[in-house]
Amino acid sequence: MSVPPIKAPEVKGWCPGAHRPMKSGDGLIVRVRPRWGQLTPAQTIGLCDISQSFGNGTIDLTNRANLQLRGINDADHHAVLGALLDLDLLDETPELETRRNIICAPLRTQTGLTTQLAQELTDRLDELPDLPAKFGFAIDADGPPQITAAPADVRIESGPNGLIVRADGSSLGQPVTPNTAIDALLTIVRWFTETRQDGIWRMAPHLVAVPLPHYFARETTFPCAPTLVPARYPHGQVFGAPFGSLPAADLRALSLRNPTATLTVTPWRMFLLNGEIDATDTSFITGPNDPALLIDACPGAPACTPSHIETRALAKHLTAHLNGKSLHISGCAKGCAQPRRADVVLVGQPEGFDLVLNGCSWDEPVLRGLTLQSVINELGRI
Ligand code: SF4
Repeated sequence: MSVPPIKAPEVKGWCPGAHRPMKSGDGLIVRVRPRWGQLTPAQTIGLCDISQSFGNGTIDLTNRANLQLRGINDADHHAVLGALLDLDLLDETPELETRRNIICAPLRTQTGLTTQLAQELTDRLDELPDLPAKFGFAIDADGPPQITAAPADVRIESGPNGLIVRADGSSLGQPVTPNTAIDALLTIVRWFTETRQDGIWRMAPHLVAVPLPHYFARETTFPCAPTLVPARYPHGQVFGAPFGSLPAADLRALSLRNPTATLTVTPWRMFLLNGEIDATDTSFITGPNDPALLIDACPGAPACTPSHIETRALAKHLTAHLNGKSLHISGCAKGCAQPRRADVVLVGQPEGFDLVLNGCSWDEPVLRGLTLQSVINELGRI
């Protein structure tokens, strides 16, 4: 049977925030952007309270190191904003919320260069020109870069010869000092806005059409450090959660047992609790070999309207059949849970499951219309 090609999904140039939530099948999605991805213990517990009082009782981790509340009624949105304001988790305006699109390397200290530069960029956000909503920044200045694959358009990183500012899509950056890094970042952003063509929203596709001036591309960066896994690190304990979904009751219990620990969100659907952590008696993943870490699954039906399948129930069912392969289960071809390739991808369709091998949810399937049993049979053959 010949399979017609599937088009890559349209990426909307808009991200939900707290001020501008997105409507979904189970209510509003309210995205919370903790400053530089960090929550104090009081903020962590306060966010759990909001999720349990107004949402569906879970908090989702996003690949931009943000947090998401789901299942909020329209009528409760105002109360949720008030509660976020009390926790100092709300930007003054929707414009500021959109602009403060900064991901920081999770393994950092409160006094290190990453933190200092993130503070300076936050203080100077009003110097940025108007930018597309998804345009963002990665600050990764304390040793070998940790977040080169996290979504960002301009990056501040360490290289063998010192600090660089690098446009995403270029392997080379501009050498800078801690005192000149934010000025250099602003200069590259202005170059982007002055040379950008209609319909281009991100730096990497822009560089395909418009060569980066040599001045901005002179120094190499370090290779990316290995991605964090659930384990104990000198900074604290990294925890994983199936599908990046944190049960608020479990997070509250963990936070109460570690009352001085700051929580740092990572872009890999894991979080770090800083310090000497009691990681016993928790539902979160604390070691690197848990098979749940191999699976990405979006919320699926009934939470998300376009979904044709209950993704997460299916994921739990298929865990025993993975044999070490990575699996992405997507309620539709958009692929929200995993923008990168997985060994096996199942996409929900009205007539069954589409199967993609070593690809993304929008790639051409090798088989279509599979039943659950035929999916299990295929997993045994792959
Ligand atoms: S991929 Fe999943 S979460 Fe994204 S739109 Fe489709 S069903 Fe919804």
